[in-house]
Order: sequence, then C-alpha cells, then structure tokens
Amino acid sequence: MAREQILSQEDRDWIKRMFAQLAEIGKTGHGYERVAYTPNDWQAKQLIRDAMEQAGLVVHMDAAGNLIGRLEGRRPELPAVVTGSHIDTVPSGGNFDGSVGVIGSLCAIRRILREGRPLRSMELWVFAGHESSRFGFAHLGSRSICGFTETEKWSKLVDRYGKTIPEVFRECGLDFSQLASCERDFSQLASFTELHIEQGPVLEQHHTPIGIVTDIAAPIRLSVQVKGMAAHSGTTSMDNRHDALAAAARMVLSVRERARSYAEEGIVGTVGYMQVKPNAMNIIPGEVEFWIDVRGRDFSRTSHVIDLVRADLLSIAREEKNNVSIDTISVAKPVHLNDHLIQLAARICEENHIPYLNMVGGGGHDTQEIARRMPAVVLHIPCRNGVSHAPDEFASLESIYYGVKALTALLACQTKAVSIDGLA
Ligand SMILES: [Zn+2]
Repeated sequence: MAREQILSQEDRDWIKRMFAQLAEIGKTGHGYERVAYTPNDWQAKQLIRDAMEQAGLVVHMDAAGNLIGRLEGRRPELPAVVTGSHIDTVPSGGNFDGSVGVIGSLCAIRRILREGRPLRSMELWVFAGHESSRFGFAHLGSRSICGFTETEKWSKLVDRYGKTIPEVFRECGLDFSQLASCERDFSQLASFTELHIEQGPVLEQHHTPIGIVTDIAAPIRLSVQVKGMAAHSGTTSMDNRHDALAAAARMVLSVRERARSYAEEGIVGTVGYMQVKPNAMNIIPGEVEFWIDVRGRDFSRTSHVIDLVRADLLSIAREEKNNVSIDTISVAKPVHLNDHLIQLAARICEENHIPYLNMVGGGGHDTQEIARRMPAVVLHIPCRNGVSHAPDEFASLESIYYGVKALTALLACQTKAVSIDGLA
C-alpha cells in the first residue's frame, strides 16, 4: 500500500506554487533580498495579501506595515486564535525563514475553512520589520502590536543610506506618528502560534519533523574596546609591546571557553564582529573593537557567564598591558512559552502520529514579543544543515507539509472550542 500523503495533493500543489511565486521576488543569484520596507518586501507582502484575500480573510495593513488578516468565526465574541510569522529577509537570505510560517499558516486556515466556518475567529499576522538588518533592531512590527514601541528612540535611527524610520515609512505610505495605533486589545485574542524553520541542526540530526519550542533563548550583548599602542612591527621588541589584537584574541578565546563550560545548560557565546586599527601589515594593532553575544534559556545563568567573561577580559587586559572598556549593548530576557499550548501541541503530534521533541529556540522570533502579552508557542521544522540567513537556507517540501499538518491540527482544535484549557 502506498504511504499515506501528509497533505492532500491540492494543499501540496498550493504550497509549492506559493513558494515558487515568492522565490521570484528578490532573487539575486546569491540568495534572496527582501529586506524590510523595500520594494521587494512590499511586493512579497502583496503576493501574500492577495492569497489571504482569496482564502476569504479580511486584510488590512496597520501603521507599522503588519498585514492583519481576519476570518470571522461563528462566535466572533470569543477571543480569536492567531497564527503568523514574517516575510522580510536579511540581505542575501533564504526563501524559508519566516515565509514557512506565513505560507504555512495560510494553508492551515484554508484547510480549516474547508471543514466549514470555525467557531472562533482566526487571524493571520504577517509581521513587518522582523529582521534587524534594516535599522539595527528586530521585531518592529510585533513590538508595535504588543505596545512595546520606543517611538522617540526609533525615530532617530537610520538605515545604511541615512534614511530615518519615519522617512522610510513615508515612502511606504505608512505614518510613523500613528505607530501606537498598532497595539491590539489582547483580551480579544486567545493564543498565538508561529511555525518556523529551526535555524539549527537538532531536528535534522534526530530525524524528527517537529520541534515544540518551550523557551526562546535571548542574548546579552557587550561591546568591547581594547586599547594598546600602535607601533612599528619591525623595531618594537616582543617584550615592549601593547598589542591590542593579541589581547583581543585571548579575550575571544575566553568567551568561547566560558560558554563551553556552561554548554550543558544551553549557553552559547560568540564574537562575530571585530574591527582592528590601524589594520596594517607592519603596524602593531593599537585598538580593537569587538562584540560579544552570549545567550541561553536561563537569564541568571547567562548573566553569570557574562560576569565571568567581564572578569576574564579585565585580567587579560592587565596581563597584556592594554586598557579595556566594556559597554552593554543590550540585555534581552529569555521567554518561556505557554505550558498549556506546549502540552496541547504535544498531544496533537501524538494523535496525528507526528514524531516531535521539545526544544529551546536559539534564534529570535516575533513570538518572544507576543508571548509577553498572550499565550504563545512556536513549532519548528528542520532546515538543511541547520543553515539560515544565508543563500543555502533550505527546508524540504516534505518538512513543510509536516509542519502545516501539525499547525492545522493545533489551530483547528482551538478554533472548535468555546473554552480552551488555560487560555482565554
Ligand atoms: Zn525568522
């Protein structure tokens, strides 16, 4: 007997077609470029908006550029069940980060609608400005929906072309001064579920189609300035140097060692950015700036590792006869997702014979904002080699079908119920 298909041929064809159409937008020959608030991003949004309207959703764009689609239920007074993700990419990104959740959510709603109009209303949110690549901070759209706007601060930030957010908004036909109007009344909303590629290798390594995210890790980020003394590389003896790069190199390794010693607790530490001055072959480096990103699922452990790293940096600087100054760039708190939804998702997977595992999410999701306002959960699907934010980013159709199947079942059981355990 032939193996049962995960989704109907109609759904499979629809998903294939949507990804193929999206792939036509912003294709550069080196990945995809649909950076937030650019014409490519807007074109992708139009494609999604058209598909949402075809599915029967009433769609509007809020002041932040989020697409909000709503399907009125038979009992519209009940809090709505919400799903969604983002559609923007990093420069030279892939075709799956975010879009799996947007296209997947719409497919799930189409499948639920085929069984008749659901009891509860449903909403599909397509978040604007998810990636930090445009303005240096992430989740502009979801933070606006939550009422976590920093209008004063945001109005002064510029992109790489020197354009401010209000200017960019104006070009997109949006009014930055109306940003506060994006905040939703969360008493009218029951839950939020985001389907997303894992952006890590765990599911692929375990040959498991679904990851139920229990916690979203969050980074503490430091900016470090090391000051030594620039000098001639030929005439300065080895014991008479203040080599800022040699000191910084030891500091980078100490970040790695500290993170490694807490690896079992889920801590990861990275130095991914460094600038060396004067950066010349025959000059001993006089100044180095680098950034540290340490993250984990437990805020107190992450803070503890950061304290250890700070102490290491100070003692290395002393030994290396350099000065070091350390500034905190940002402190984000990990988010624990809703236990009722986590359990519900597990039950749904079991009932549908979909293997799953619980996991910590290492990447940033809009859900980490939403989860501060209402019950929320994230479902991960595998992506090839764990790669994302790169042209090699890839999720197989088979993986996406499994994700859509699990998402549909999870949303459907909530939309049928007048009351949901632990939820509004
Ligand atoms: Zn994403």
